[in-house]
Amino acid sequence: MRTKIVAGNWKMNLNASTSEELLEGISIQIAQNKPNCQIIVAPAFPLLQLALEKLKQTDIQVYAQDMSEHISGAYTGEVSAQMLTSLGVKGVILGHSEQRQYHGQDDEKIGKKIKLALENNLTPIYCIGETLEQRENGKHFTTIETQISNALFSLSKEAIQKVILAYEPVWAIGTGKTASPQQAEEIHGFIREKLAQTFSLEVASEISILYGGSVNPSNAKEIFAQPNIDGGLIGGASLKAEDFSTLCYSF
Ligand code: PEP
Repeated sequence: MRTKIVAGNWKMNLNASTSEELLEGISIQIAQNKPNCQIIVAPAFPLLQLALEKLKQTDIQVYAQDMSEHISGAYTGEVSAQMLTSLGVKGVILGHSEQRQYHGQDDEKIGKKIKLALENNLTPIYCIGETLEQRENGKHFTTIETQISNALFSLSKEAIQKVILAYEPVWAIGTGKTASPQQAEEIHGFIREKLAQTFSLEVASEISILYGGSVNPSNAKEIFAQPNIDGGLIGGASLKAEDFSTLCYSF
């Protein structure tokens, strides 16, 4: 049985007091009735410690939004995998389209980060997805295949099983345009097929693949009901306790 996951990517939003309010709101909602999924929140670096402290009595895991591909040293402004592990952070979002777009991260660099995260006991959420132009030109399958083969196919069978994937079509992120459940399922099925060809059917069937892109309380149930979709990576709707909690009960 694959783990169902709802992961909130807070991006560069909130501050110490608004984070505290949000975390309290989520904890209260969740405490009343335990949801049938693993909940993850990914605050910005300066808010990680606060989130860890606030959530220590809950099952909610705290992830970072990125990390350095270097182990340590003279890399001003960067945060290492080991720093995250030492705080109690459980995982890290890698390859988000905003990191690819604004910070020139490519599959090779992200692949290095995935290996380093795994070596430091951090679960990577590897984000992939095509742009609108790639979809309109019928390049969505090849784009996804390239992204997964570049960053994941050199991992061992043991290592790949510790990775979570997130299919996030770039045209659906923060735009209010969601991929239809059928469009999303088609890509998720394709990803699982490629993982099965490279690793094994058994390995592929155990990997959680999340959908991300304008998921909200009114569309989540239908998306999460697709056979190859194991939950969501949520941006905007993760910033409101009630919306985020509703998503956690949408399986
Ligand atoms: C994201 O940034 O990962 C995301 C899916 O954002 P949104 O839900 O706001 O589209």
